[in-house]
Amino acid sequence: MRDASREVLRAIFGFDTFRTGQEAVISEIVSGGDALVLMPTGGGKSLCYQIPAIVRPGTGIVVSPLIALMKDQVDALRQAGVRAAFLNSTLEPHEARQVERKLLDGELDLLYAAPERLLMDRTLSLLDRIQIALFAIDEAHCVSQWGHDFRPEYLRLSALHERYPDVPRIALTATADAPTRSEIVERLALGGARIHIGAFDRPNIRYRVSDKQKGREQLLRFLEDEHRGDAGIVYCLSRRKVESIAKWLRSKGWTALPYHAGMTKEERESNQRRFIRDDGVVVVATIAFGMGIDKPDVRFVAHLDLPRSLEAYYQETGRAGRDGLSANAWMVYGLQDVILLRRMLEESQADETHKRIERHKLEGILGYCEVTTCRREVLLAHFGDTLAEPCGNCDTCLEPVEIWDGTEAAQKALSCVYRTGQRFGVNYLIGVLLGKEDERILRFGHHRLKTYGVGQELDQSQWRAVFRQLVARGLLTVDIEGHGSLKLTQTAEPVLSGERRLELRRLRQRTRERKPKRQTGAFEGDRSSPLWHTLRQLRKELANKQGVPPYVIFHDSTLAQMVDKQPLTRDSFASLSGVGHTKLSRYANAFLDVIRGYAEAGGN
Ligand code: ADP
Ligand code: ZN
Repeated sequence: MRDASREVLRAIFGFDTFRTGQEAVISEIVSGGDALVLMPTGGGKSLCYQIPAIVRPGTGIVVSPLIALMKDQVDALRQAGVRAAFLNSTLEPHEARQVERKLLDGELDLLYAAPERLLMDRTLSLLDRIQIALFAIDEAHCVSQWGHDFRPEYLRLSALHERYPDVPRIALTATADAPTRSEIVERLALGGARIHIGAFDRPNIRYRVSDKQKGREQLLRFLEDEHRGDAGIVYCLSRRKVESIAKWLRSKGWTALPYHAGMTKEERESNQRRFIRDDGVVVVATIAFGMGIDKPDVRFVAHLDLPRSLEAYYQETGRAGRDGLSANAWMVYGLQDVILLRRMLEESQADETHKRIERHKLEGILGYCEVTTCRREVLLAHFGDTLAEPCGNCDTCLEPVEIWDGTEAAQKALSCVYRTGQRFGVNYLIGVLLGKEDERILRFGHHRLKTYGVGQELDQSQWRAVFRQLVARGLLTVDIEGHGSLKLTQTAEPVLSGERRLELRRLRQRTRERKPKRQTGAFEGDRSSPLWHTLRQLRKELANKQGVPPYVIFHDSTLAQMVDKQPLTRDSFASLSGVGHTKLSRYANAFLDVIRGYAEAGGN
């Protein structure tokens, strides 16, 4: 069995080795058991059911809520020579009948279907007549009623097991928290399943968080310095902001498309399609965008607003660099974000228990933003993983944060809040500390306070950073009824009284972020090489001819190896990762021609 799976891995998918966990899960399913697979986005979940579906007799049935993506998944499998098809509402009746016929004739290794489609009587009676290799339940966290992606139809999936008790099942998700996990096990009746929890680290992603000053200018600089021609996602909190940032980026010459729930379904699908099909498209989106986007060459994910939780952040940033090549997770955040999220949370209709959970999540993400040690350590610790040593690929590792004794500054800030009556927002408070001759300050008589003008040693933005950290650490809270006015909490007392000292992060005083070098890891390829561009051109032409996304022909990582190794023979081409039998016979000649031409021209 193992050998058969390895053979499929090499011959069909063109990979030499399994990733951690894949082999154990695959052999469990191949031998008829059940499995629950929790792996981060890009971890390699698909092979866990695709290989058993090919190795086992019969057809593997894949349940997925994301019908917009089924066609691409199926296209990718067909490119590799796998007999795959999908059944969903986008098919014309005659097309659906064709798929059903193939299914009945045993001509499919894999069939993708939406849950509602699968549970229809018509489909079930088809399944009764065929041999089923396995059921794969993708995005399995959709059974969780507490999650953002809840799909009621997912609750009915246990019917499959009742109807076909002997068919092995595999549930897969990137959502790893323990409550969701147990909900999946319970609702899908996976009590006896082998549970595989993958390593949650994504070492190729570089995490960075900067102080938000002029968010969109910072974004533009980041894109221009590091991501010309790359595909990526920019997340914003509101629809309005999505629209305006997308428009602004377009005015700066970027191909930037908006995506949010306020757009029509057609507009959304069309923008998503362009993101997947075209090279170098930037999507500016609310969190509505992304689940199940399995585009492997997303080179960056940028957050212009603070995400609600570390789970959300990790999931969103995990959409970058699925192909294993280096990618950036970049974020700017400021005090206004904290205030806004706190306010949204307190104003929501949710009950107190729910709000407490949400508050806790917000604290988690704030802690992450303000951390002075390795960011990856914090992220992984949150998911129950540990790192042996600081990662060396996050901003705090690359440029250690300066810590300063902020006790005195904190005392000034806190006492300013207190003396002005806990009724004012941060700009006003900073005005008092700096001794501004502001009309309101004079009107309220706050120029006579002891704290008036005592904060000259710091400037406006440094004070903002102090206040932000005080809010992030819970010494101050945002009064939502008082339009963002700040109030003291219990935690502030020991600092005010001098019992507790407070270390703060020094604001990075740089207008321009230092440009990190592109990592040169395995298969990174030389993107400035003319060969790289010619190969991409060829890939795009081949993709267009067949109406498929370029990455289903070859991933960037395979092209990068072509640049690195410059194979000149079929054999050496066949040994590249990502080149299986089918792709070898279809594409080797075309790509070899380009590489040989390049070599003959003396490599330029
Ligand atoms: P997930 O579904 O977990 O988000 P995918 O199944 O889409 O991740 O896999 C992510 C990427 O990793 C894909 O590009 C896939 O081709 C690649 N991949 C998966 N397993 C292997 C492997 N054993 N060797 C090399 N590449 C792999
Ligand atoms: Zn680090």
